[in-house]
Amino acid sequence: MKPTFHFKQVNHLLDDPVVYVRVIREGYALLFDAGELHSLNSREIHKIKHLFVTHMHIDHFIGFDRLIRVLLSSEKTLHVCGPKGIIDAVKGKLSGYTWNLIVQYPLCIEVKEFSAGTMRCMRFSAKEGFRPAPKEPDSTPPLIFENELFEVSTMEFDHGIPVLGYRVQEKEHLNVDTVRLERLGLTVGPWLGRLKELIRKGRLDDRVSVTGTDRQVLVGEMLSEGVVRRSRGQRFSYIMDIAPTDENIQRAIDFVRGSDALLIEAYFLEEDRERAIQRRHLTAALAGKLAREASVKEVFPLHVSPKYKGSEDRVLKELYENFRH
Ligand SMILES: [Zn+2]
Ligand SMILES: [Zn+2]
Repeated sequence: MKPTFHFKQVNHLLDDPVVYVRVIREGYALLFDAGELHSLNSREIHKIKHLFVTHMHIDHFIGFDRLIRVLLSSEKTLHVCGPKGIIDAVKGKLSGYTWNLIVQYPLCIEVKEFSAGTMRCMRFSAKEGFRPAPKEPDSTPPLIFENELFEVSTMEFDHGIPVLGYRVQEKEHLNVDTVRLERLGLTVGPWLGRLKELIRKGRLDDRVSVTGTDRQVLVGEMLSEGVVRRSRGQRFSYIMDIAPTDENIQRAIDFVRGSDALLIEAYFLEEDRERAIQRRHLTAALAGKLAREASVKEVFPLHVSPKYKGSEDRVLKELYENFRH
């Protein structure tokens, strides 16, 4: 099965957690947390449509300035989602600069703040000098974003402050069987993207033109002939900076259950559990166990404490031993 989402861990294991997720064939990307972003080039940054922030500790939010710097002249809306305080945090960042000469810039920033089961939305437009304007939220929590391809849900966890975890669920996965395709005398091309789009919209009686030919095929026929097959969509989850409490861990297990991929912090080693409790972070062992109990297929650790510089392999070993056990 060809994946729909491609993950890139932007920084080293010991540095700020940032995950860049390319939505394959759609030409845009999602960003999870905005820590230090200098390893992303401006072409990559221009593709970002959605930013999901877990919380505004500096290691998760310092890159927001670079994001705005690069996107300022973009004809787009950047959608930002975050926990209690995100609207004030964005307002604070934007009010730290002078914007009198930017009215020709088209960038808009739409911020959704999810807190205690409710959602608030604020729009900041460059044309208006980034003055905040309230907006009706377009989704009902815990769903925070939805399009034809996937949906994103969130859940609050405790880290001394509320932090958000995120789960992305592809609605259904559409695979093209190239052998069957060729058997019908058809070839791979951009028309397959249009075909999938029509299938997702349920327009099975429509016809689609095959790229480079004058042939047209019926959308429903491509399904009945097995050229396109439907299967369960990919699911991945992102969990950072949660205190090692039973309540947090049980909530996280329920939230990420059945994920194909789990991106999770592994901040401390189990031998430093006392420190993990004080600093309200998971240990590698807890992250591994959580992933195992939630039956996730693959676990990707990130956000390891810099105190383990030179012994990162111990952290990884602890996580994977507890995951596979
Ligand atoms: Zn952190
Ligand atoms: Zn934190």
